[in-house]
Amino acid sequence: MRQLRTISAMRGWRGSVSDRLVLVPTMGALHHGHAALIRRARKLAGKNGAVCVSIFVNPTQFGPKEDFSAYPRPLAQDLALCRAEAVDAVFLPKASDMYLPDASVVLQESSLSQTLCGRSREGHFSGVLTVVAKLFLITLPTHAIFGEKDWQQLALIRRMVRDLNMPLEIAGCPTFREPDGLAASSRNAYLTPAERAAAPRIYSSLKKAAALRSIPAALRAARRDLEAISGARVDYIEAVDASTLGPLRNRNSPGRLAAAVYLGKARLIDNIPLPALS
Ligand code: AMP
Repeated sequence: MRQLRTISAMRGWRGSVSDRLVLVPTMGALHHGHAALIRRARKLAGKNGAVCVSIFVNPTQFGPKEDFSAYPRPLAQDLALCRAEAVDAVFLPKASDMYLPDASVVLQESSLSQTLCGRSREGHFSGVLTVVAKLFLITLPTHAIFGEKDWQQLALIRRMVRDLNMPLEIAGCPTFREPDGLAASSRNAYLTPAERAAAPRIYSSLKKAAALRSIPAALRAARRDLEAISGARVDYIEAVDASTLGPLRNRNSPGRLAAAVYLGKARLIDNIPLPALS
């Protein structure tokens, strides 16, 4: 497995890949959810293709009061997981190589980024889109994989690729859950044992609510159940159209029920499908 620590090393290795190159962008602190993405990438790459995992804790997607410095960075463990999953190359750029001190160009999206997490994390999606676009331009993948756990991010990246005619395919990967239903996340490491024990109630609240036919009733039920989790503060609970992320007004088209909940030091997000009803 190659470890590529500079942009020029990455570009050099890219030149040696003649078949598919599947990119899995991550911020490290890899867990079973990332492993699921890598396995999907491996399948998509096929026998002659290659899988590259990027590990970069992108400073520009963290707000001033967010957890950039505290974000876990267990590099040796991350490399071991990549090796075990037969990753071909890991791209580990330095922030100073990714962002020159006078960098002045960023990507801005004006619709899908204005809802859900975009409301409470100002500038977050501009940081995400800018770094993902840079990673695409540096690594030139034929395919890239993103998790459905971050549904808004996945929808935004699809929109960016569509609107900017980027020449690659985006694949989504279903949310990997712990046996008790909690969506795997690097931020679960911030939870105390009591918070960790309560956290699966986010998923169970969403599931119970999604079983109701009426959207307002589902939102009421989910909010009530989320607010009943001890120590939890609900940032949002919303039903949105699965692709435009606009408010879901009826059950004629596919939707998502999405929530963000502060639990202790962690801000946890989750979402599940609200299938169209016939
Ligand atoms: P992160 O390292 O948190 O930025 O995540 C890197 C990629 O892994 C993103 O595409 C996430 O959506 C995806 N991901 C993180 N957690 C999960 C999970 N539990 N299931 C599926 N994908 C995930």
